[in-house]
Amino acid sequence: MSGSDIMLSIVTPVYNEEEVCDVFFDRLLPILASITADFEVVCVDDGSRDGTLETLMRRRRDEPRIKVLSLSRNFGKDPALMAGIDYARGAAVVPIDADLQDPPELIADMVAKWREGYDTVIGVRSDRSQESRPKRWSASMFYRVMGQVSAVDVPPNAGDFRLLDRKLVDALRRLPERSRFMKGLYAWVGTNPTFLYYERPERVAGKTKWRYWRLWNFALDGIFSFTTLPLRIWTYVGVFVSGMSGLLGLYIVLTTLMRGADMPGSTTVLLAVLFLSGVNMIGLGVLGEYIGRIFHEVKQRPLYLVDRAIGFEQLPEANGRPILPGSPRLLE
Ligand code: UDP
Ligand code: MG
Repeated sequence: MSGSDIMLSIVTPVYNEEEVCDVFFDRLLPILASITADFEVVCVDDGSRDGTLETLMRRRRDEPRIKVLSLSRNFGKDPALMAGIDYARGAAVVPIDADLQDPPELIADMVAKWREGYDTVIGVRSDRSQESRPKRWSASMFYRVMGQVSAVDVPPNAGDFRLLDRKLVDALRRLPERSRFMKGLYAWVGTNPTFLYYERPERVAGKTKWRYWRLWNFALDGIFSFTTLPLRIWTYVGVFVSGMSGLLGLYIVLTTLMRGADMPGSTTVLLAVLFLSGVNMIGLGVLGEYIGRIFHEVKQRPLYLVDRAIGFEQLPEANGRPILPGSPRLLE
């Protein structure tokens, strides 16, 4: 088991956040200092192409408790977050966004709840009225579908901003899969949660990295990696369609016997063929979603590659998942 020699780890994935880094640290550091002196801030530079890494390094000069992981390219938020969680040594770990949409003030309340004995304190946005209507609508649809189809309870409107006890972190790190839909994984790990409600403000500066297409893929990931229900639906669709065509066949036989042959219109035939091949293709597509995921899983590639790790005393243990051993530049 990885020991925890630090009390509190903050994990922040950053991607092209040059504009917000300084504001973020200026607000975060005093709050952390008021909670404990025994903290670290693990910043994961997810292949930024602006001055993010330089800004992080500059801040590290004044505050050595800021540690920097630099990934070899942009891997996406979830892998970057997982990298930070792998390297964090805290007894409690708090992932937080760099854009101050997760108010750092809440960390004090989270730590207080954790000291009361909760294993995880989940930040829930109580108010999404700031967001655009389609975004809100799609989010609520997503949670509804997720709640219906999957065995794990993903709390609605909760993101990555939460406190995780070390035992949850270790459990999370043991999950071997590559498709890391974090919200689902937190929920899968389970145990003794409590909730803190907060209003999610706008980003202080910079632009969101989410586009609708990515959000859509993210939602698909959530569903396909947590349930096989979409596969099972096709059995029922098949049974239904076969049943209906059986009945139709019977009807045609009977009417032909009673009233003689009557050629049905070619439009009906064409429509039936097109409709059923469409249904077939959807079924194939669903199969493809799962096969694609199997393909990614069997390759067993690590989730991320670390180019530089600055300020860390030791490499994380692999803990069941493939983590590539250090490159020569590791642990500066
Ligand atoms: N992020 C990242 N890699 C990415 C995209 C985003 O590390 O490929 C980070 C980003 O720097 C920020 C956090 O993930 O700290 C949340 O991103 P963003 O604010 O764009 O998402 P939103 O708040 O709009 O969901
Ligand atoms: Mg944001």
